[in-house]
Amino acid sequence: MDKKVEKIIQLLEKEYPQVACPLDFKNPLELLVATILSAQSTDKKVNEITKDLFKKYRKSEDYLAVSEEQFRHDISHIGLFRAKARYIRGSAAMIIEKFNGEVPNNMDDLTKLPGVARKTASVVLYSAFGKNEGVPVDTHMIRLSHRLGLTKEEYQHKIEHDLMGILPKRLWGKFAHWIVNHGRKYCIAQKPKCEICPLIAICPKIIDR
Ligand code: SF4
Repeated sequence: MDKKVEKIIQLLEKEYPQVACPLDFKNPLELLVATILSAQSTDKKVNEITKDLFKKYRKSEDYLAVSEEQFRHDISHIGLFRAKARYIRGSAAMIIEKFNGEVPNNMDDLTKLPGVARKTASVVLYSAFGKNEGVPVDTHMIRLSHRLGLTKEEYQHKIEHDLMGILPKRLWGKFAHWIVNHGRKYCIAQKPKCEICPLIAICPKIIDR
């Protein structure tokens, strides 16, 4: 492994020894739904909504037992709720029809579900199944991987490709959790706190992009 990447990993591991998925869930279906709901929304908002939602919708069939209008109403406090309602109900239907009622536990099948791209699938695979099949690239990962000089790419899939090439596979999911924490605590979008950041000695701080 590249020395710089090794050092970044060491420092992040030291700073964030306990990382966990910020979304509340009890099974793969709940995590899938919460991750679809989290697009362009905060984890806090998603957790507020799913607290009651998951009492009403316990299995895939439950999402189809109500009208789309009713389901939209139940998630209407979150942004993009119309598209999210369509994706969640579409995913529930496909899980029942094609996957025997079980959320798939591999990248190929998960990304066949409506509204589920590699980022969502990687989150579900890592946090619900303990599998590292991709690096979830969200807004924090895009920003920090540029600032840390880990990629020069702009597109999500190319950034992920670069990261998969330099990070040990066993850390793909955990690295994403570290980066989200670091992006919130120090490497904030508008005003990064470089002067107190534990990575300052090795970070090229490529900020003006
Ligand atoms: S030194 Fe600055 S740019 Fe680099 S990771 Fe820390 S906060 Fe971000």
